[in-house]
Amino acid sequence: SIEFRNVIKRFGDVEVIPGLNLTIEHGEFVALLGPSGCGKSTSLFMLAGIYLPSGGELLFDGHLVNEVEARDRNVGIVFQSYALYPHMNVHDNILFPLRFKKTPREEALVRVKAAAELVHVGELLDRRPSELSGGQQQRVALARALVKEPQILLLDEPLSNLDATLRLTMRTEIKSLQKKLGVTTILVTHDQIEATTMADRVICMRGGGIEQVGTPDDLYLRPASLFIAGFIGSPP
Ligand code: ATP
Ligand code: MG
Repeated sequence: SIEFRNVIKRFGDVEVIPGLNLTIEHGEFVALLGPSGCGKSTSLFMLAGIYLPSGGELLFDGHLVNEVEARDRNVGIVFQSYALYPHMNVHDNILFPLRFKKTPREEALVRVKAAAELVHVGELLDRRPSELSGGQQQRVALARALVKEPQILLLDEPLSNLDATLRLTMRTEIKSLQKKLGVTTILVTHDQIEATTMADRVICMRGGGIEQVGTPDDLYLRPASLFIAGFIGSPP
């Protein structure tokens, strides 16, 4: 499990997360949903080890990871901008996370191929990111996040750069991929439809805190506040 115990994040004097408490079980698919600036990415980056908590305890399976470096966390992440390395082809982009691991060359190549095929970019390994569509780049970013076979998959607005049709396709694909792999997945989004159609449980955030946690049905049928009711709206 993942556990935030009163986790605090400050940037200088500004406390953007005053004390987050949340437990996510192994294999769960949760969405962090909320308006711009509420602390979704900051929370995700603390899980990834990109930001370190300013206080409190972050636990993976009961072990304190506050100070554990990103590369030692067994976490895969897809950023909103995909952040592919422009000078590397698709193959080398997907291979990149394995550079710190003592994975034998042969095994690494097998893993790259498997990850690429999982997201249907097995035919594009020689291309540069600039030669790919937005959707293809998004798939490559997903393959790169999965190549280490991470215990936790973190997705920060992964669909926001895609057109409406592709967004629908990718919602379904990511959801079935998650079910197939059983990887604990945390999706950050400000899109309530995306959150409620993809996740088993939705964490609604506001101003650095949690406003409500529940299944999509809970949020639609029993919103805890006017803010949630307004933000979630009516079922799709
Ligand atoms: P969005 O939907 O716009 O991506 P978000 O919910 O992901 O928003 P965060 O990026 O987590 O929001 O930001 C939360 C708050 O923390 C914001 O007020 C932001 O300005 C601040 N913040 C985030 N990163 C930093 C940083 N590196 N330095 C200073 N302030 C930061
Ligand atoms: Mg963000």
